[in-house]
Amino acid sequence: LFLSLEGGEGAGKTTQRALLGQWLESLGHEVVLTREPGGTALGHTLRQALLHGEDIDARTEALLYAADRAHHVASLVLPALRRGAVVITDRYLDSSVAYQGAARSLGPQEIRDLSLWATDGLLPELTVLLDIDPAVGAARRSEDPDRLEREPDAFHLAVREQFLALARAEAGRFVVVDAAASPEAVHEQIRARVEPLLPE
Ligand code: C5P
Ligand code: MG
Repeated sequence: LFLSLEGGEGAGKTTQRALLGQWLESLGHEVVLTREPGGTALGHTLRQALLHGEDIDARTEALLYAADRAHHVASLVLPALRRGAVVITDRYLDSSVAYQGAARSLGPQEIRDLSLWATDGLLPELTVLLDIDPAVGAARRSEDPDRLEREPDAFHLAVREQFLALARAEAGRFVVVDAAASPEAVHEQIRARVEPLLPE
C-alpha cells in the first residue's frame, strides 16, 4: 500500500506521517516512512542543493525534483511495496505539480507527465491533502527557513489552489483534511480513509 501526504508549509505532514506509521505498526504492518525530496542518500544531496544551494532556474528545479523521485521510487519505494510494506511518503508528485507546475508556472500537466515518466507511472493508492491557509501554516514554519519558505504569499496561495484542484480532479485518490484541526482529529479522519485499503 502506497500513501502520500501533501500540503503546504506547516500543514503537519511529518506529524501525521508519524501518527499513521505508529498506528499501522500497531496493527502488525511493516511501515516505511520516507519523504521527498531527500528519502535516499542521493536524494539528501539533491535536497541540500534544492533548498540551501545556489539559485536555480525553474526547469532545473523541476528536473532535480524528478530525478530525486525517480531514484526514490526505484531504489526505495518499489522494493518496499514488493515485499508488502506500507510506504508513507511526506510529499510525492502532487507537490511537483503544485510547486513547479503551478507556482513556478511550468504547467501542471507538463510536470505531471514528467513525474509519471520519472516513476514509470507509479501513483499512490491514497493521497492525503492536509489543507491549510498559508498564513496559518506560516506560523508553524521552522526558524531556519529554506528558500521556498521565503517565497511571497502569492506563491503559497498558488500551491494551495493547485493542490485543491488536483484533489477535485482525482477525487478517488485524494482525501482532503482541514489541517487547522488538532493533530488527533486530523489523524482520525486519515485513519478512516486508510482502514478499508489495508491488505488482508
Ligand atoms: O516538506 P518539506 O519541508 O520537506 O519540503 C521542503 C521544501 O521543498 C519545502 O519548502 C517545499 O515547499 C519545497 N518543495 C518544492 N517542490 C517540490 C517539493 C518540495 O518546492 N516538488
Ligand atoms: Mg518545510
